[in-house]
Amino acid sequence: MSEQYVYYFGTDKAEGRAEMKELLGGKGANLAEMTNLGIPVPPGFTISTGVCSLYYRSDRTYPDEVRKQVAENLDRLEKEMGKKLGNREDPLLVSVRSGAAISMPGMMDTVLNLGLNSSAVEGIAKNTGNTRFAWDAYRRFIQMYGDVVMGVPHEAFENALNAIKREKGVGADTELNADDLKKVVDSYMSVYERTVDKEFPQDPIEQLWGAIDAVFGSWNNDRALKYRSINKIGDLLGTAVNVQSMVYGNWSDTSGTGVCFSRDPSTGENYFYGEYLMNAQGEDVVAGIRTPEPLSSLESANPEVYKQLVDIKERLEGHYRDMQDMEFTIQEGRLFLLQTRNGKRTGRAAVKVAVDLVNEGMIGRNDAISRITAEQLDQLLHPMISPKAKKNLEPIARGLEASPGAAVGKVVFNAEEAELWASRGEKVVLVRRETSPEDIGGMNVAEGILTSTGGMTSHAAVVARGMGKPCVAGCKDVVIDESTKTFSIGGKIYREGDFITLDGSDGEVYAGTIELEKPSLSGELNELLSWADEIRHKAKRVGIEDGFMVRTNADLPQDARLAVDFGAEGIGLTRTEHMFFEEAKLTSFRSMIIADSLQERVDALKPILKLQIEDFRGIFRVMDGKPVTIRLLDPPLHEFVPHSETEVRELAKELGANVEKLLKRVMELKELNPMLGHRGCRLGITYPEIYDMQVEAIMTAAVAEARMGIDVRPEIMIPLIGSTAELEVLRTNAQKVINRVMDGVDVGIDYLIGTMIEIPRAALTADLIAPHADFYSFGTNDLTQMTFGFSRDDVGTFVPEYIEKKILKFDPFQTLDASGVGQLVEMGVRKGRNVKPTLKAGICGEHGGDPSSIAFCYKAGLNYVSCSPYRVPIARLAAAQAVLNR
Ligand code: PEP
Ligand code: MG
Repeated sequence: MSEQYVYYFGTDKAEGRAEMKELLGGKGANLAEMTNLGIPVPPGFTISTGVCSLYYRSDRTYPDEVRKQVAENLDRLEKEMGKKLGNREDPLLVSVRSGAAISMPGMMDTVLNLGLNSSAVEGIAKNTGNTRFAWDAYRRFIQMYGDVVMGVPHEAFENALNAIKREKGVGADTELNADDLKKVVDSYMSVYERTVDKEFPQDPIEQLWGAIDAVFGSWNNDRALKYRSINKIGDLLGTAVNVQSMVYGNWSDTSGTGVCFSRDPSTGENYFYGEYLMNAQGEDVVAGIRTPEPLSSLESANPEVYKQLVDIKERLEGHYRDMQDMEFTIQEGRLFLLQTRNGKRTGRAAVKVAVDLVNEGMIGRNDAISRITAEQLDQLLHPMISPKAKKNLEPIARGLEASPGAAVGKVVFNAEEAELWASRGEKVVLVRRETSPEDIGGMNVAEGILTSTGGMTSHAAVVARGMGKPCVAGCKDVVIDESTKTFSIGGKIYREGDFITLDGSDGEVYAGTIELEKPSLSGELNELLSWADEIRHKAKRVGIEDGFMVRTNADLPQDARLAVDFGAEGIGLTRTEHMFFEEAKLTSFRSMIIADSLQERVDALKPILKLQIEDFRGIFRVMDGKPVTIRLLDPPLHEFVPHSETEVRELAKELGANVEKLLKRVMELKELNPMLGHRGCRLGITYPEIYDMQVEAIMTAAVAEARMGIDVRPEIMIPLIGSTAELEVLRTNAQKVINRVMDGVDVGIDYLIGTMIEIPRAALTADLIAPHADFYSFGTNDLTQMTFGFSRDDVGTFVPEYIEKKILKFDPFQTLDASGVGQLVEMGVRKGRNVKPTLKAGICGEHGGDPSSIAFCYKAGLNYVSCSPYRVPIARLAAAQAVLNR
């Protein structure tokens, strides 16, 4: 038997099913399913997505078998309907629509009223008793066919129509009568002939194949290609084509058309939501020519149809066990369903609907968890621009969606101005080429951050995410001129003080102010996340306690507090350097950097010790009973000193230091590749007094808090280890300090000393390092940088183009590169646990908050992921999804 290319759906029986979306597209599969459920659907047939792919493979032609099956199914349809395409007495009219496995709203083509020709139009006029209706349908068909199938410009038809309206002296189409519309048809025919150089096809079979070609052809139009690329839709066979008998909402006053949702798609409330118009076609509703009525008024206008619709809605929702988005048409009091699909919804609605469906006994908790996406949760955690407002807005530039949420504020170009303006009560957006640790203060007071270079793990992006601040990074079109305090985009100038709005969720930048919607954390969200926690807490881990945990990256007590409120179960990374940028510590630290002797350095560190003890105490208190990983100093020292000569001179004055000496020291600290230079444990080896001071601060703080009854669990983490000897030396040093602090102390502290695995060599030699480490934390930011050989700070200059040209499928600083960098993670865990089976392992790179990377981490056997506070709820959900999908 030959392969089946075409699937029929009749009055009560269909050859397809809902599960056949890949082959029949979403629309075709659901039309078949509704038919089998006995829901009134106008009969028709679906040409499979496989034919679309055959069509492209065979140079836009079809195998004979496809033509044969289409002819057979058309014959079956004509018999069932008792009508024939193009017939003068009782013509059949059909619609020809696209429908891929994943819905791509409005991206592909549709042809309605197909089968009309100069004979059929008479038949329609006779059967409806409405000549105007018949000629209106005919002129609409010529226009649609001309436009969609033959590429006749839309305006050519519009001009012809307008000429006739002018002649008649009327403004609206509805004021044209049947005779006028006949003239319109004649005029459209000439437009068609002139442009196409052929007569308008009168043969309905020729029309049908023209429309089928056009729909398959629209699979690869620019709009559809772009939609698939933006939404990362790949690996589909193509679109299906649905040929379906027409029903008319504009047949009479007892006809109508509408769209409805089984629940409110924006709030998720269980309330039958929708709109309809009597005596109208679907396109009238979409085009906004007339204002539709709320569905509730159908109840009084036509209680019978309304009741039937409610009944169908309940059956469909119960059947699909999800909120449905349906299209219906009423023809002369008879209801037909033209489409049903799982409705698109906001994040808020997604969570509410999922939790409600569980509580109503329709789905299980696991289903609810699997249905929510990270993007939907993210919407609930940040202020945003309402999708409605977005429809009417044009962005002035587009960069990377570095940290979600929207921000409105006045443009400022440096951190000091940001702080100054903010202290006056102004809302600001900090616009910089890239930020550095010195900008922290300004970033902290800004509503959002816009940078013109840098990638997803650039300083601006990482810090903004940590702060939960919206950030658009690497916005290449923004050209900053700090000297004039302006930036330009394509020649247009924006000045300091001008308002702009950022959308960090999609990387768009807008001129002026846009009103934002506040985030809302609902009871349903907590309920859903508590189900997720139960699932991941039970997840089996090899040789160690069970549970796939979620920690946070937090540097300050208030960040830790926020993260705990969001459900963090520990701190996976405290970057201590951020504490050094506070004014009081910075001065002492700078004195330490320029000191000549060890003693001078030790003295300069003393005031910092005291302050660091306070920092750590604050964090331990918030994290009572939870592990806290504190990383010893990591960035190169030059990040702590100013760079311009004027600034250095000012600093010399402030420190009472010799200017020449300070300038010389600043020069010495300069490195060509600081990210691969004198940083991390290398500083600990060359300036042991810095790490000693930090270890002393951690343990002293721990003891002080333990004495207050706090359950303290410090985990001291040494960064950037590349060889066993580095860790051996630094662990011994740390141990000495710990022994000193703990000597004679009456409380015991359960502490760990571990390391980051962020240099490929550390992963390769993880079995040699393990004896010296109590835990491993994968620093996948640096590990990605060094495995790819891509500088974290410069990826903004080429990675977007790499992605555009498909050299990279995604940004590896955002989503862990499982096949490359991932091997090092797996190897690190495996080799480490070969030597030490209970070795605790986690991840603290930015990937710890990315759902697909979290799934990878689960498979690699990690005990926890750690991410910025605002990602914690997403990580809780994604971790549970990873466990469910194992
Ligand atoms: C990392 O490298 O992944 C990491 C967490 O450290 P940082 O980003 O501070 O270098
Ligand atoms: Mg690192």
